[in-house]
Amino acid sequence: MDVTVAADRAALVKARDSLGPGRIALVPTMGALHEGHRSLVRLAREHADHVVVSVFVNPLQFGPHEDFSRYPRTFDADLRVCEEEGAGVVFAPSAEDMYLPDRQVEVSAGGMGGTAEGAFRPGHFDGVLTVVLKLFNLVRPDVAVFGQKDAQQLALIRRMTADLDVPVSIVAAPTVREPDGLALSSRNRYLSEDDRRTALALSRALSAGAARARTGPAGVLDAARAVLEEAARFDPPLLLDYLILADPATFAPVGGDHRGEAVLAVAAKVGTTRLIDNMVLTL
Ligand code: AMP
Repeated sequence: MDVTVAADRAALVKARDSLGPGRIALVPTMGALHEGHRSLVRLAREHADHVVVSVFVNPLQFGPHEDFSRYPRTFDADLRVCEEEGAGVVFAPSAEDMYLPDRQVEVSAGGMGGTAEGAFRPGHFDGVLTVVLKLFNLVRPDVAVFGQKDAQQLALIRRMTADLDVPVSIVAAPTVREPDGLALSSRNRYLSEDDRRTALALSRALSAGAARARTGPAGVLDAARAVLEEAARFDPPLLLDYLILADPATFAPVGGDHRGEAVLAVAAKVGTTRLIDNMVLTL
């Protein structure tokens, strides 16, 4: 079956309405699709009869000094991926089409949008939630699939659907990794061979933390921090933004006596590339 490309909102509404009966799943992406995105589309197909993939590098979620202009754009290859994985519609609007020139209203991520990743990227999650809510309203999916790779984003999207009564079920997809542990990311293509070697410390730190889950929060954080501190002396060095052991639903740091689930999340720069990763642990 051929995939229909909708290049603006009007075409999307038309393509969506011609999908026929059955459940619709949405997979929002910023393109430069890799094996992680493929796994999301496959999971979406398990939950619905039709899959809509959006490919949109959302200017609202990038800070003024972030990589919006150099974010990888590989639309022809993305289209092939969507076709191979059985998506019915690819929605790829321009920013001018997505955002009205006189737009005023945005979604606020609240306090949860200012912690962890949000503390380093002010306004990022407001931009994410705004575009996701717009995509929900345009596509009107029954279900939407998001990667655990962006754990705080996933938590905030669940929070938004609960707080704003958005009638979309949220499905989480596990993080797809390279054989050596590096989490797949569209930004990995920026990494030189040396950068990549240093970048492996992220997943190694998370695994080291996970191996200490039985000892409690302090042991987890100490083990992860030791790996990251070692990598700070590599060439190129790993420059840590944060390491946090947080409640997976609220992203508030867990207390020293916490037991049960927690997400160990890390963000760091290697060369000019900023990477994030996380693992969910049971303490
Ligand atoms: P992005 O294109 O980076 O905005 O990501 C689009 C979706 O793919 C988000 O829900 C991400 O969490 C998810 N994603 C990104 N990388 C991975 C990965 N390595 N494994 C699974 N899902 C991923």
